[in-house]
Amino acid sequence: MTSDQFSNLSDIYKAMDKTWDKTASQYGFLCEGCEDNCCKSLFFHHTFIEKAFLLHGFELLAPDIKKEALTRAKTYFSKTFSDEDSTSLKLMCPLNKEGKCLIYEFRPMICRLHGLPHELHKPGSPPLKGPGCHAGLFDEHPYFPFDRTPFYKEIAQVEIQFRQNSGKNGRIKETVAQMLLF
Ligand code: SF4
Repeated sequence: MTSDQFSNLSDIYKAMDKTWDKTASQYGFLCEGCEDNCCKSLFFHHTFIEKAFLLHGFELLAPDIKKEALTRAKTYFSKTFSDEDSTSLKLMCPLNKEGKCLIYEFRPMICRLHGLPHELHKPGSPPLKGPGCHAGLFDEHPYFPFDRTPFYKEIAQVEIQFRQNSGKNGRIKETVAQMLLF
């Protein structure tokens, strides 16, 4: 991983955050936490570059904090993948400590894009629309366009470059716990 690739990814993340903040302000929405905590969602992440960036952030943590997080990751992994219907589990991400993300600057795309009503355009398919977090929260509002497509495309580009440089290949579909453990 070169610093340039981290820097490209970081720039994409900044643009995501900026767009998210702008859209949230159109709704007058300020996330102050809720029962339906998005860090309890079963998110899967699909790029090696995001995993590398997350692990880079993780390595900067103090040894005792890392050790605790790894213990939580083991528990998370065993509960998630031993349960027949893991989608019904609402387990807190091992990197969330006392309500805060330990690697906030390094968190993956889906953690950044979550929460707001959005759309995603895939070639040959009708647009996918998402209602945003906490079902119903945004129902009373007109939709303010939040198109995730350009961000997915940009992440795909840096992922291609990363794979070429690192020799990584194949499919990746991992929770944060798996990223930390494997
Ligand atoms: S990586 Fe951070 S923001 Fe994403 S789910 Fe885990 S604690 Fe939450």
